[in-house]
Amino acid sequence: MTTKIFKNILITCLCATVIIISLFLVVLYNNFKSETITKLKNDAVYLTAGYKAQGIDYLESIETSDRITLIDESGEVIYDNHANVEKLDDHSDRIEINEAFEDGEGYSERYSDTIGKVSLYYAKAIDNDTVLRISTQASTISALLLGMTSYLFWIIIIVAIIAVLIANHLAKAIVKPINDIDLNKSNIISPYKELSPLFARINEQNYTINKQIKNLNQRKEEFKTMTENMAEGIIVINQKKDVLTYNESAAKLFGAHDISENNSVFQFDHSLKFMEAIDNVVLGQKSEYKLEKDDKVYSLLINPILVNGKPSGATILIIDITAKELQDKLRREFSANVSHELKTPLTSISGFAEIMKNGLVDPEDVKDIAGNIYDEAKRLIVLIDDIIRLSRLDNSDVDVKKESVDLKALAIEVIAHLKNAAKQKHIAVSCEGYATVNGVPYLLEEVIQNLIDNAIKYGKDDGYVKVSLCEKDNEAIIKVEDNGIGIASSDLDRIFERFYRSDKSHSKAIGGTGLGLSIVKHAVEYHNGKIEVESKLNEGSTFVIRLPK
Ligand code: ADP
Repeated sequence: MTTKIFKNILITCLCATVIIISLFLVVLYNNFKSETITKLKNDAVYLTAGYKAQGIDYLESIETSDRITLIDESGEVIYDNHANVEKLDDHSDRIEINEAFEDGEGYSERYSDTIGKVSLYYAKAIDNDTVLRISTQASTISALLLGMTSYLFWIIIIVAIIAVLIANHLAKAIVKPINDIDLNKSNIISPYKELSPLFARINEQNYTINKQIKNLNQRKEEFKTMTENMAEGIIVINQKKDVLTYNESAAKLFGAHDISENNSVFQFDHSLKFMEAIDNVVLGQKSEYKLEKDDKVYSLLINPILVNGKPSGATILIIDITAKELQDKLRREFSANVSHELKTPLTSISGFAEIMKNGLVDPEDVKDIAGNIYDEAKRLIVLIDDIIRLSRLDNSDVDVKKESVDLKALAIEVIAHLKNAAKQKHIAVSCEGYATVNGVPYLLEEVIQNLIDNAIKYGKDDGYVKVSLCEKDNEAIIKVEDNGIGIASSDLDRIFERFYRSDKSHSKAIGGTGLGLSIVKHAVEYHNGKIEVESKLNEGSTFVIRLPK
């Protein structure tokens, strides 16, 4: 704009200068011309007087650059100081001569064939028969003007420089108030009256835009508040793959930092799979895939946002499915283990039954074989019982009624049940301390029963099992200690897994199912408690359970 104004002002100044100079030259020319004619007139007066007094001799005595001519009534040239009169043609057709014969004087300006230049002519009648004409070359005027050319040139240069400076200053001065306007202001006052309608329109549009931005920000805030507390990550992008909004969970799940909105979505992840999915979604194709990152598994649901059927962005939903994946894995392992564990006793039972059916058993062995079948069947029942209990816990299908449970009374009851097993191995089982907890009685009984049962099962003959109870820091603590076979440190992390037994051959002889500690863990977690174990091979094990009161 500044350049345009500058150019216009400069052109105006230069045009004005050229017009003024041209007009000045025209005026000067006319002025000079009228002065020349006046001079010719004055010269004609004294030449006429001289001619009248002395005749042609007077005219011949005059030294002048002007042309003096005498013409008679018939148009014939009698005297000419610049040309041979015999060579001159009839002058009766000359305007100035005719006018002089008619009105006493005449004037004209034209090209002269005699001298080959434009001339100014003035003719004056001396008497009725003769006219004296005096003429001067127009080039004299042009020469005067030409002489002024160099001055005019410098005048134009100086005017041009001044015009550039003025135009520059004016252009800046005109544009400055417009540049100084703060377009973010709600009510802009026009610096020029002529621009008022434009600024009124801008103010109107600013108001509408601000209102819409406010609405959008409000919606964005609402969306943020809604999504901020979600465990799932959400990212919304536009068609240019730039982030419009996202929640903190999204950044956290991707492990991304310093995410800035209106920047590429690949700030979150630049894996090939993610880039491919984003490229597809902007074309309108939804996709879903699993992303494994730092021991976690996420499900990514990438859906296009369609406006009037056309993709105009996308939403990316990130769900942490690590727990679900682990559960699925455990469930698959559990099913495989259950089938295996059930098949083993059943194969034994079916084998024994088959040899009995085929009469291949001596009568005295029948008792032993029946005993084997009985033992295997019992093992099956225990196993199925454990599986049922575990699946009930899995489905949280427990009697949720919690009550105050006297753990001491529970432990004494369990010890009484296991009295015979302990007696067989000469294991001294003791219980000291006291604790109560708000919980589900039969689940807590399972916990104590499994721990003491294991301590006796994996205890050494003539050993001990110490059960101690206490309450500390608003927790009920159950400690079951034995000096049995202990657990290898490599197995400690795995003993709570379903069907895991640290020493398969040994455990089989002892007759466990590998589900006891899983049930304990589940029951403890159901009470929001924690379980810890310390053990040394051949020295013994200590299980500590902390239950919040
Ligand atoms: P099981 O039915 O085999 O006893 P558990 O889940 O109760 O199954 O125990 C898992 C494994 O942990 C056992 O096979 C055993 O190897 C080990 N274990 C549990 N308690 C003890 C303990 N008190 N002393 C030594 N080993 C133990």
